[in-house]
Amino acid sequence: MGAISTARRVFLRRATRVGLSLALFGAARPALARPNRTLTGIRISQSDDDHTRVVFDLTGDVEHRLFTLADPHRVVIDLHDTRQSEALAVGRTKTSLMEGIRSASKNNGRLRVVLDLHGKVRPRSFALRPDGNAGHRLVVDLHATRLSPTPIKTSEQERKRRKPEYVIAIDPGHGGRDPGAIGKRGTREKDVALSVAKRMKAIINRSEGYRAILTRDGDRFVSLRNRVKKARAAEADIFVSLHADSFKSPRARGASVYALSLSGASSEAARWIAEKENASDLIGGISLDDKDDLIASVLLDLSQTATIQDSLDLGSDVLDNIGKVSKLNNKQVQQAGFAVLKAPDMPSILIETAFLSNPNEERKLRNPKHQQKLARAVFAGIRNHLARRSNA
Ligand SMILES: [Zn+2]
Repeated sequence: MGAISTARRVFLRRATRVGLSLALFGAARPALARPNRTLTGIRISQSDDDHTRVVFDLTGDVEHRLFTLADPHRVVIDLHDTRQSEALAVGRTKTSLMEGIRSASKNNGRLRVVLDLHGKVRPRSFALRPDGNAGHRLVVDLHATRLSPTPIKTSEQERKRRKPEYVIAIDPGHGGRDPGAIGKRGTREKDVALSVAKRMKAIINRSEGYRAILTRDGDRFVSLRNRVKKARAAEADIFVSLHADSFKSPRARGASVYALSLSGASSEAARWIAEKENASDLIGGISLDDKDDLIASVLLDLSQTATIQDSLDLGSDVLDNIGKVSKLNNKQVQQAGFAVLKAPDMPSILIETAFLSNPNEERKLRNPKHQQKLARAVFAGIRNHLARRSNA
């Protein structure tokens, strides 16, 4: 794992502090009818062929959301509560990674900026405070991915056939020496999770434009960190971790969906469940305190706040669909510090499909028909989410 330089570390630490405080202020402020900020300029530069930097000059601090779309590849940045200056100055727009740039005001007060790309990139974003002559800025860095286009260009149709539009990483919780929750009839969480995951993989791979990978395909122990690494190596667009819950009362029931929280769990129950799920790595003899540089930089990465927003949106689409086939424990997406959801650039959710400690739900979770329904519902939620996003 490559170490990140001290300069980048310090920079990220500073940027994180600024960004998180902005995010907190943003959350506390009520939505305004008229955009409060103005985008006055866009500056584009390229230090080398693998890196393009886009700087947005703004009249105030800004909340933003960033996500990527495929076919054709583009990066979308929604600037909340922002309008575009009539005298917007835009410099060069073509770089080795970028084809052009366009923007449109949305009626919710958001300004949507789309960066049209030559191929897939890994975007990072962070905010900068006024400093010297420079005012408020939002910086978006585009990095070439390992699998960026080769010099030999293929026809659009051929590319489409060979490269699926979306890669979905399915993560069956637990495995091997870590059984997870165990029901009264002896049903093990690791088995149910794997079974639903395999069904989901089959459904996804039958759907055009989608491909699924599993972070484990047998009854094996895989550390939480390696699950994320596998998904990243496959360049997954979405990460879904599948689990089943347990509680001391057999009456607890229903599915829940979780996204990552950077600032603490949204409820006591969410914290309790996160601790249980994170304990998986302790069972494997790997302490979560032993974070490598990747995870350290991930935790500092500001793009995570945008990814979390995207994860929350994804989670609510998935909840809506699970609600059609199962009882819900909570109608809102919950947030907690799940280690397995900490990839900075991949919207990630964790699903507690039901309670194995509830005899009725244990029976349903063992049922292949119900497993199939669940798998279909989760994928339907993913599809809805991606369809909504691609209106850019
Ligand atoms: Zn679990």
